[in-house]
Amino acid sequence: MSRTEPLGNFTAEDAPHYDDVVQCMRCGFCLPTCPTYALTGRERSSPRGRVALARAVAEKKLEFTPAIKEEAFFCLDCRACTTACPSGVRAGEVMEMCRSQAHAFYPLGKMGKAFREFILQKMVPSPKMMETSMLPTRLYQRLGIQWLVRHLKVLKLGPEWMNKAEGMLPELEKPLRPQLPDIVAARGEKRGRVGFFLGCVMTLMYPNVSRNTVRVLTHQGFDVVTPKDTKCCGAPHLSEGDRETARQLALFNLDLFLAQDVDYIVTDCAGCGAALKEYEELLAERAEHEKLSRFREKIRDISEFLVEVGLRTEGLQEVRARVTYHEPCHLCHAQGISAQPRQLIRQIPGVELREMQEASWCCGSAATWGLKFSQDSQKVLDRKLDNVKASGADILITANPGCHLQLAWGVRQAGMPQDVLHLMELLGRALPPD
Ligand code: SF4
Ligand code: SF4
Repeated sequence: MSRTEPLGNFTAEDAPHYDDVVQCMRCGFCLPTCPTYALTGRERSSPRGRVALARAVAEKKLEFTPAIKEEAFFCLDCRACTTACPSGVRAGEVMEMCRSQAHAFYPLGKMGKAFREFILQKMVPSPKMMETSMLPTRLYQRLGIQWLVRHLKVLKLGPEWMNKAEGMLPELEKPLRPQLPDIVAARGEKRGRVGFFLGCVMTLMYPNVSRNTVRVLTHQGFDVVTPKDTKCCGAPHLSEGDRETARQLALFNLDLFLAQDVDYIVTDCAGCGAALKEYEELLAERAEHEKLSRFREKIRDISEFLVEVGLRTEGLQEVRARVTYHEPCHLCHAQGISAQPRQLIRQIPGVELREMQEASWCCGSAATWGLKFSQDSQKVLDRKLDNVKASGADILITANPGCHLQLAWGVRQAGMPQDVLHLMELLGRALPPD
């Protein structure tokens, strides 16, 4: 979804397609699925309302007003409306494009622009800079400064987002990327060779998740190739309306992975998976169609991959646990992967899956949305936590690092007993020791 021709009152670069804004027949099926409509009851904060605003700009009936900018950033981009829409309207993606438009119509001041460019264009694209940037945070945790800060509640004096961001930090280990061998050999009868797309948040915040993903893949008979030069998938840039940097990252990753001799490209991060699967659209005017479709054909979420190739269950050990599953929006709505994680959970001996109500309702994380709109995010999270409690599960499973951070924080704040784990950590518990 991108264009470089003028469309009504949008700027030419990265305007939505007209087709995407005229398809809405105003049926309202999307309304009960939209978290921001549930929060506000306001038409303009619904998928239908947002698409109507974009259509009015496309038809020159409206300028790109501050209200449209607000709605573009208030949308969680959870894509629940896309799943519900009988006409295939993609309000989340239209709003993603409107974020990029918002930066064209309402440029940031000098300082804001420099900060944004440094983060999105220098730091996030550099795995080494990202790793170095985490060092002070690890020291902050190791030297007991975090304990003091939390104990004295000093961050309560600052902006709400800062207190929440600090509270969400998991106990950081060393990043996984430098530790992971370039190739980890398959165990047992070999079934193939996969490229592993190691996401930024996974290597920095949840190395144990991706360590387990590699263990699971090798136990399943796959050589795992992890290209160390892999850059961010571009999802944070799309979310912040920096589509050009997203395209540059996508072009880099496309060439890097197509140069590997692998049958599949697997990721354990729902957000990365959704972004990688959308490279075809993002790069439609920048890369050869043949390369894009070859890349697209190989991308799999880890749960999608394991179900497709068939999980070898011989040798899996019993894990006595009652678990419930929260569906990440970028897995179920953006990629249509809903049954596979449940199938894998059910295949682990001893595990009882207790379905929660509204498993596919957003958790309120949505990249930086949960920090920018922390009070609204808390309401969305509370609804999720009520459903987790009612499930009676001991373990809450998810498959995306953003959800993981938000849910683990929410569970701790609410004094709930559940452990929050990625699906690969659960499966890792069933593997025989290495
Ligand atoms: S479900 Fe689709 S067609 Fe119906 S109102 Fe919502 S966006 Fe429009
Ligand atoms: S993507 Fe989510 S928040 Fe945005 S309009 Fe659709 S349902 Fe609402």
